[in-house]
Amino acid sequence: MMKDPRIYGIRRSLSGIRNTLCVVSGKGGVGKSTISTLMALIAANMGLAVGLLDLDLHGPSCHVILGVGDFWYEEERGIKPYMYEGIGIVSIYPFIGERCAPLRGVALSSAITELLAIINWGRLDILIVDMPPGMGDPLLDIARYVRSLSFLVVTTGSKVSLTTVSRLLRYLIDHRYCVVGLLENMVIGAPRAESIAKHHGVRYVGSIPFDAGLEHAIGCPRKLLETKIAKTLRDLMMADPLSRFFSKPKPI
Ligand code: ADP
Ligand code: MG
Repeated sequence: MMKDPRIYGIRRSLSGIRNTLCVVSGKGGVGKSTISTLMALIAANMGLAVGLLDLDLHGPSCHVILGVGDFWYEEERGIKPYMYEGIGIVSIYPFIGERCAPLRGVALSSAITELLAIINWGRLDILIVDMPPGMGDPLLDIARYVRSLSFLVVTTGSKVSLTTVSRLLRYLIDHRYCVVGLLENMVIGAPRAESIAKHHGVRYVGSIPFDAGLEHAIGCPRKLLETKIAKTLRDLMMADPLSRFFSKPKPI
């Protein structure tokens, strides 16, 4: 079978990236985009070279959370990530605007391959990938292309989310992917996901409280950094098992 030449382009484009952290979940609406975007913002504020890839082609959200507005990419041996608040952003948004992208199967997979092949990321300390929910084409594609990929799995404490995330964890572990751990979001009262992490033999990264103030901060990076979520996330990013992704490179 002929190899897709775009795969070489993707591997070359990803070769200058130290770490890739892919934020996944079983269910939608558990906070993947919020967590990916805030992690990117915090990492950029820490002085790291950070990229944020929004791979939710049906519902891109990172640009909304950051309040990027309309943007377009410059070209330099491929498209250059759009720099905003120190983050190199790539999203389908500039291509589709306010329209939807009704893609499925091969077309969806091809759009992801195409997007990945034309980005020139340059050198990055960390690339954070915001994924759509579940185990569809985007997850299977990125796992195929990015060799040293690590998954950060997000859930809420709801039984509905825990049941589904348990399935996702089983899939990732059975297929020998690197699972950094399980992060519980929107916690009100006692956290509930620790036993699921333990059951699957993965780390429980910690819990992020439900923050009623988040909505007022959407679209404003300065306010986002002051939310309870950002403060908790910053502490988690400094601690094991996330700290190795957010440490500064050692000078040569
Ligand atoms: P996903 O990407 O998993 O679909 P989002 O990040 O879009 O989820 O979050 C879904 C909704 O929940 C958004 O309106 C977001 O602002 C809100 N949200 C996310 N995390 C929290 C939190 N810790 N506290 C309060 N609201 C939150
Ligand atoms: Mg999302």
